[in-house]
Amino acid sequence: MLLPKFDYYDPETVEEACGLLTELGGQTKLLAGGTDLIVNMKRRTVLPDHVVSLSKIESLTALDASNGTVRIGACVTAGEIAESEAVRQDFAALAAGAAGLGSPLIRNLATIGGNLVTARPAADTPAPLLVYNAHVVLKNGAGERTVSIGEFFAGPGETVIGEQEILTEIILEKPQGRTGAGHLKLGVRNALEISLVNVAAFLRLDQGVIAEARVAMGSVAPTPILSPGAGTVLKGEKPSESLFSRAAEAAASDSRPIDDFRASAAYKRAMVETLTRRALAAAYGNALKE
Ligand SMILES: Cc1cc2nc3c(=O)[nH]c(=O)nc-3n(C[C@H](O)[C@H](O)[C@H](O)COP(=O)(O)OP(=O)(O)OC[C@H]3O[C@@H](n4cnc5c(N)ncnc54)[C@H](O)[C@@H]3O)c2cc1C
Repeated sequence: MLLPKFDYYDPETVEEACGLLTELGGQTKLLAGGTDLIVNMKRRTVLPDHVVSLSKIESLTALDASNGTVRIGACVTAGEIAESEAVRQDFAALAAGAAGLGSPLIRNLATIGGNLVTARPAADTPAPLLVYNAHVVLKNGAGERTVSIGEFFAGPGETVIGEQEILTEIILEKPQGRTGAGHLKLGVRNALEISLVNVAAFLRLDQGVIAEARVAMGSVAPTPILSPGAGTVLKGEKPSESLFSRAAEAAASDSRPIDDFRASAAYKRAMVETLTRRALAAAYGNALKE
């Protein structure tokens, strides 16, 4: 399938790219790994006049860990995140989410920035970023702003990013104390599969009690969401199988899945419960390691 015609630009700095977005106007698309954009252009569902590639902007490909903060450039690929020692060590749920995205071929191209901006409810990196309280940096010609990942998604395929903004990096603060996280994805196949349901869980323990807990889920609401109910059930309690079961029930009741060609809403809700229970058990197991 041939691509439609468009003008191509490949700036070398974020500032230059921001300038192009301002100058070229509405019919312009940023190109990162192209695993969504190029597919959509071939299908003729997206027809930009101008395509601004991010591939020559070195700063967007950096993954830096220092002073307890990990900064992941928007153009770091899912494959690089899955392999990164800094991410695997302190953000295991994100490494797992990235490792389960698509196939090796897709992971070598698909960027974390593209995965977030595409805003598919079933995407694999948002739930882990939600449980780690990540932030994203958005830049345009006038300056930059930092937005919490919980406020970034606005609906299926929609985010708060402005037309002339570029997502430049994702910021993660290293969890302090005895913490652990887990991530699970359920699909119909074991590989190259969009999630039917995905769940990430994070726990921080203080003297054997859960001091902080977050459960996030994908593919069961218009955007990836945190489960307030699970957090409330878990906080201040001693970890146990029955506690994790009650938190999993709360997560299932916070989910808002729909019936579609891939599975019924009832099945997805049941799977939220199962995956949450298992992700919490994994998070607890990881918190006890060290
Ligand atoms: C066969 C196949 C399997 C897949 N499997 C999965 C899967 O299992 N899990 C999953 O989550 N996804 C999956 N995907 C979806 C896809 O790979 C991801 O959404 C990918 O991460 C998008 O990133 P990209 O770099 O390819 O973005 P692109 O396609 O380059 O861009 C996507 C959109 O984001 C915008 N954009 C990109 N970067 C930026 C930025 N820095 N700032 C502002 N806007 C930006 C672009 O303008 C475009 O609108 C699959 C795709 C395919 C083709």
